[in-house]
Amino acid sequence: MTARTRPDLVDISPYVPGRTFPGAIKLASNETTAGPLPSVAAAIAESALGVNRYPDNGSVALREALADSLGVSVDRVAAGCGSVSLCQELVQITAGPGDEVLFAWRAFEVYPVVARVAGATPVQVPLTADHLHDLDAMLAAITDRTRVIFVCNPNNPTGTVVTQDALERFLDAVPADILVILDEAYIEYTRPGDQAGAEIPNGVALAEGRANVVVLRTFSKAYGLAGLRVGYAVADPGIIAALSKVHIPFAVSTVAQAAAVASLAAADELLARTDGVVAERRRMREALIGAGYEVPASNANFVWLPLGDRSAEFSEASAAAGVLVRPYGTDGVRITIGDPDENDAFLAFATGDGLPIW
Ligand code: PMP
Repeated sequence: MTARTRPDLVDISPYVPGRTFPGAIKLASNETTAGPLPSVAAAIAESALGVNRYPDNGSVALREALADSLGVSVDRVAAGCGSVSLCQELVQITAGPGDEVLFAWRAFEVYPVVARVAGATPVQVPLTADHLHDLDAMLAAITDRTRVIFVCNPNNPTGTVVTQDALERFLDAVPADILVILDEAYIEYTRPGDQAGAEIPNGVALAEGRANVVVLRTFSKAYGLAGLRVGYAVADPGIIAALSKVHIPFAVSTVAQAAAVASLAAADELLARTDGVVAERRRMREALIGAGYEVPASNANFVWLPLGDRSAEFSEASAAAGVLVRPYGTDGVRITIGDPDENDAFLAFATGDGLPIW
């Protein structure tokens, strides 16, 4: 007989990552295609020589470098083992059984998991027909049990953004004792104008003036360190202090901290690479729209095809053509922007002659 586990775990589906197989073109996990810069690889190699020692539990050098680059005080910054761990920790410090965790749906698949792991109840507010956050409906869904609200901006998997004005109005209307998490994992790929009329908010600036707002960012996407697991939160010092209480000791490895510091030092070069991704995103979107697909404007390193109940069939056929994309139930399929030849392989499949009409 196995040991008894929490009965409510039975209803929790674990997070399922994008799959891969040797030789496949993987456009399923929103990764960066390029490996680390030489300066970052050198920092990784050098820090590896010290892994007989525990990491700096406070990630001090990294938090100082982040504070410096963001123009905030260091007591407003926390580092975590990927921003996903900070999602979990933020729910842990605010919500428990009987409490509600509110977010749009679809959004990042981890939100319902971390809510349930905390014993709280996930409350999902459908996106609009245009695949945007429905902030009015989210406000209307707030109850006296709501403790946390996630706003994924840009939204994974749709790539759509909440605009500056709309977000400010929303934040002004949310009761001050509810934590609002602005998940900006893809913020480096935003470009004003890609979504008509959308002025892109900067969560760090919004959080500076609001004690109940926290911003999450990551080194996994534009900074290309997905395999090292490092993300960060910017928030009121009281929230950062609460996070330190639930932080798993030494969760951010020595190598991850060193690589993140070196990446910040090379930020200009790394962020310049996002221009290539944005150009490819626009090319992909235009080609897909030209072939008859609906493709919402994206501000992330992926595009969304709302294919409804054809989503599974589409992604299976794409995999059979050697390109792995990510299906989301009966809502749609998300395609990560890869290198031009990878994107061409996907477009050849998705827009090729003789296909069933998706
Ligand atoms: N937030 C969003 C919206 C994401 O899509 C992801 C990664 N898929 C994360 C957070 C987590 O990123 P990481 O844990 O790698 O920092």
